[in-house]
Amino acid sequence: MKYDFIIVGAGFAGCVLAERIANDMGKKVLVIEKRKHWGGNCYDMIDSHGILIHNYGPHIFHTIKKNVWNYLTGFTEWYYYQHKVLGYIDGQYVPIPFNLNSLHQSFPKNTAQELEEKLVKKFGMGNKIPILQLKDAGGELKFLADYIYEKVFLNYTMKQWDCKPNEIDESVTGRVPVHISRDDRYFQDIYQGMPSNGYSNIFEKMLSHDNIHLLLNTNASDIIEIRDRDVYMMGEKFGGVFIYTGPIDHLFKYKYGKLPYRSLKLDFEYLPQQQYQPVGTVNYPNDYDFTRITEFKHLTGQKVEGTTILKEYSQPYDPEIKGRDIPYYIISKPENLELYKKYKNEVDRLNKTILVGRLAEYKYYNMDDIIARSLEIFENDIEK
Ligand code: FAD
Ligand code: UDP
Repeated sequence: MKYDFIIVGAGFAGCVLAERIANDMGKKVLVIEKRKHWGGNCYDMIDSHGILIHNYGPHIFHTIKKNVWNYLTGFTEWYYYQHKVLGYIDGQYVPIPFNLNSLHQSFPKNTAQELEEKLVKKFGMGNKIPILQLKDAGGELKFLADYIYEKVFLNYTMKQWDCKPNEIDESVTGRVPVHISRDDRYFQDIYQGMPSNGYSNIFEKMLSHDNIHLLLNTNASDIIEIRDRDVYMMGEKFGGVFIYTGPIDHLFKYKYGKLPYRSLKLDFEYLPQQQYQPVGTVNYPNDYDFTRITEFKHLTGQKVEGTTILKEYSQPYDPEIKGRDIPYYIISKPENLELYKKYKNEVDRLNKTILVGRLAEYKYYNMDDIIARSLEIFENDIEK
């Protein structure tokens, strides 16, 4: 088959674009994926105990974007689920993001009441304040800001990123802002849920089209080469559009140096009991080496004997070392973004090449961001 598009990577970025190109334009697409399955980090499967697990860490779908929700709803039904997280802090479980319920659980009644009044007066009921902003506010709330910083953010961030909260882009800790409300949900987005038959089923549907040819177990660098301003496949110049969703530094053989990422060690454990913990995820900011434990049955609503939990340990990424070679998280620091720009400039010189994805764009995208981005690229840069 002669292809109009080559896409590297079968995560959400690659699959949404392949689906749109095949279904909407009737063009032919080759999708190259180095893993033995589709879905990228959103891949899920039934484990040997019959439990639906997320192989690359827990994925909860949430969005405020109606077009993204409607688009995905074309591929799945939804299990109603609102994610809840507790933080294990000084021997008790408090709601995360830290909110007014967490405040009242952490302090004696009068102190909590006083702090609540100050918070509401300063920021207003219902608002969300990133921890670094709360710390900057100082004044009467300094004590509380320092408490939340120390107990919730400092050690978790050290474990996850190997640096302090102020040494990484503030949007990172800003993902989990202090919430001046009694709402214990981790996300407040209007659309939230889990795909009833899992994520992998969505990808299967997206890719099932005669015009899409999926090549699994294939590292693009073995068959794709960049020469001057063009893309070559198996030595032949490719005249179509090249869409790359993998790590951008890898595409250029690390010529300017390696972009840093954080990797994860994921420990899955089956337990012959009905339930392990009261909510989907428990964060452990200050205890143990892992950052959090997720129990999948809460997320998926699966009714099955026993339960599988996942402990996540953050670790440095190294493409040469097995077990550390998956770039899970980009590291949002100025020096890394500078290095990224060098690679991006190289891509801008290439003919008919599009970069999209968490790794290719070096951005901390959620699933809905990447779906929105892929749909936008399709409409603005491909379909026209
Ligand atoms: P990926 O899913 O990483 O897909 C890229 C694909 O490219 C991979 O399959 C990879 O194997 C392939 N590839 C790379 N290089 C090559 C190559 N050289 N040749 C061939 N193939 C290649 N988002 C949420 O909205 N909610 C959540 O709860 C959530 N939880 C998360 C938890 C964790 C631990 C992590 C790491 C991420 C989480 N995310 C979550 C984010 C979500 O995983 C990403 O938004 C999404 O996976 C991005 O899709 P992508 O296609 O850009 O990248
Ligand atoms: N964070 C923290 N303590 C928590 C939860 C989050 O310090 O209990 C910080 C930490 O730096 C983390 C970031 O906020 O990496 C973003 O958290 P989120 O839960 O969004 O991370 P993800 O699910 O993307 O791993």
